[in-house]
Amino acid sequence: MGLTVVQECPQCGAPIELDETHRLLRCPYCDVNSFLFADRYFRFVLPPKTPRKDLIYLPYLRFRGSVFSCHRDGVRHRIMDITHLSVPFKRVPVSLGLRPQAMKMRFVKADTEGTFLKCLLKTEDLLARAEKHAGSMDSVQAFHRAYIGDTTSLIYLPMYVEGEVLFDAITARPMAGLPRDRDIFSSIGERNPGGGLTFLATICPGCGWNLEGEQDSVVLTCSNCETAWEAKGRGFVKVEVRMGTGGRPDSDYLPFWSMTVEGRGVTIRSYADFMRITNQPRVIRSHWENRDMIFFSPAFKIRPKLFLFLSQRLTLGQPQVDDRGKLPAKGLYPATLPLSEAVQGIKVTLAGCVITRKKIMPLLPRMGFAVRKASLVYLPFHETAHEMINSETGVGINKKALEFGRYL
Ligand SMILES: [Zn+2]
Ligand SMILES: [Zn+2]
Repeated sequence: MGLTVVQECPQCGAPIELDETHRLLRCPYCDVNSFLFADRYFRFVLPPKTPRKDLIYLPYLRFRGSVFSCHRDGVRHRIMDITHLSVPFKRVPVSLGLRPQAMKMRFVKADTEGTFLKCLLKTEDLLARAEKHAGSMDSVQAFHRAYIGDTTSLIYLPMYVEGEVLFDAITARPMAGLPRDRDIFSSIGERNPGGGLTFLATICPGCGWNLEGEQDSVVLTCSNCETAWEAKGRGFVKVEVRMGTGGRPDSDYLPFWSMTVEGRGVTIRSYADFMRITNQPRVIRSHWENRDMIFFSPAFKIRPKLFLFLSQRLTLGQPQVDDRGKLPAKGLYPATLPLSEAVQGIKVTLAGCVITRKKIMPLLPRMGFAVRKASLVYLPFHETAHEMINSETGVGINKKALEFGRYL
């Protein structure tokens, strides 16, 4: 479970608690929904014991998600949850410890006063460093790594200076002594760079109806004009929706990203190219040469092992998709993984499908993929005692694993 954030309803001001990954703010008091959106990543502050105007905010970069690494013997994966100091300042703790779990964070707002120290750590560097310390699993050479994040955010710890002492503003206890005659914060400090936080009214840009979704949805749907929308820039942009075939009246629909790609550094333009490169034990049919190469990825959070399994099975199986793209009235499972994260998984999916690993894995660093077209595909699944099964491909997903994914 993630961390808790408190945010006032933009309409009536009532405080609402939400999970750090939640995007849809539902106000139980005035019944207004808003969708939260940040330019790059969300920025949070931990609450100081006493408010003051001269606070200095110390940044910690946070990543929670799945890490995949491609090796000569296959693809390895695990879940990573890490928060690390992101300025080179030796006198303060490198980690926030249990603090964020014990208290409720707030979003950085345009009017949050104080000095914000710049985040000087890149997400890739943070993760690479964490993996180095993780032990033997990752000490073997990896030809490619991918980080598919549920959360990448900045959490600020408030501090203040009195005399030559730096205080932790949460506990009001001294943290470190400061060097005399030197203002160490001025070079890496800046005024509040703005939260970059936008509240979008959940109104369908197509028809003015209310958009629907769960709290953790990254794509909202309109049941009136049967469209889907993703937040980008300062508003909602339309997501192309397509439906898998074989749905029944009692079907549930799980969302997947379908990404039509063109390989760079390796010739993968058609499905036939993909089958050849990954060396599948199947006879290449002539019409595959003209079929676009489409990678599939779950558009919902799920454990990395299942993420890889589903991506591989559907990419190899290429489920049939209906171009009409009409949304069913019910049974839609929320899309909780943005397209930008799914794109990170393309190379990993290819690596997972490869049969002749020793030959192909070392070529991964030279490969790249350009996504020419993307759409959200809802595939029909029917429920059995323990599983959700797609009848066309026979792919099954354990219901508990699906449920667990919501809390990743
Ligand atoms: Zn309200
Ligand atoms: Zn609409």
